[in-house]
Amino acid sequence: MTKEIVICGLDGVIALIEHRLHFLHNDEGVKQWDRFLAACVDDMPNLPLIDRLNQARAAGVPVMIVTGRSAAVRAETVAWLRQWDIGYDGLWMRPPENFTAAVRLKAGIIEQQFPGAKIRRIYEASQHLAVARWCTERNIPVTLIAPNQGNGASREQLDLKVVRHACEHVMLHPFYGDDDFTWDDRAQQLAAGPCRVCQAEEQDKERQQKSDEARLLARERGLPPLEGTVRQVEWAESIRINAFNALDKVQKWMHQVDAQARQEDPDHWQNVCHSIHRTTEWLQQQTDAKWWIDHCRGVRNNLDSGRALLSGVAEQLGLF
Ligand SMILES: [Zn+2]
Repeated sequence: MTKEIVICGLDGVIALIEHRLHFLHNDEGVKQWDRFLAACVDDMPNLPLIDRLNQARAAGVPVMIVTGRSAAVRAETVAWLRQWDIGYDGLWMRPPENFTAAVRLKAGIIEQQFPGAKIRRIYEASQHLAVARWCTERNIPVTLIAPNQGNGASREQLDLKVVRHACEHVMLHPFYGDDDFTWDDRAQQLAAGPCRVCQAEEQDKERQQKSDEARLLARERGLPPLEGTVRQVEWAESIRINAFNALDKVQKWMHQVDAQARQEDPDHWQNVCHSIHRTTEWLQQQTDAKWWIDHCRGVRNNLDSGRALLSGVAEQLGLF
């Protein structure tokens, strides 16, 4: 008989990490990975999920923790698991200084450590959609744990709601905070919509569609094909066409002010026109998808953005 196991993640799965996400996502845009990692000792345990895991262990099914958390905090992690009396039968952590994507890291550990094991279920954080897809492709049942849905103001009240989404997928949504009067409404709201995986697939499709449209428009404009990875090119197509739409607005503005500007200061205006022309040509020849992503992401389709883009590039080229 094949031995059955349950595999479980740590961050965002049995450890609720919202209190330390501000080290990664903040207004300053600075990712403080060391502090994010060090604060794991203050995580609240996802007790209702731990109950489920305990039931599996009581039925003789080992629970293996496979986590993308760095083994740099292995001692702290083991102490935390002991502190909260969380039973498990194995703990695999990310080797220090290893930055492999979660799905490759976890798939590698699972394939190496448990070859031929029958995986009864994998519990994973809902932001690891690639892990969810990996499981689905292998017919491994996967349950995703969403981020906290409560206000997080207090850590005393905790509920783990089983939500069957409109797409029929089931996800577990932790709720904690002092706003428990709204939790049922929120759970109903979540149930009315698709799960995170289906949402992401929908967004992928939309992005693909937008990119295809952008590629057609680029061809109509006579722009050369972009170069880079499939994903970079797909992303950059939309960015590039958006930038050229903004440049169209600059062209239109030039026609509008041309007569007057020529009268006021012909030399200056000639320089401006020349520089805009050279910069636009340079942009037309830019085929590096990564360049477009790095320099033109967020360029808005308006005159000011078009002018800012041109002057930035012109400066880079030494045209101003
Ligand atoms: Zn779904």
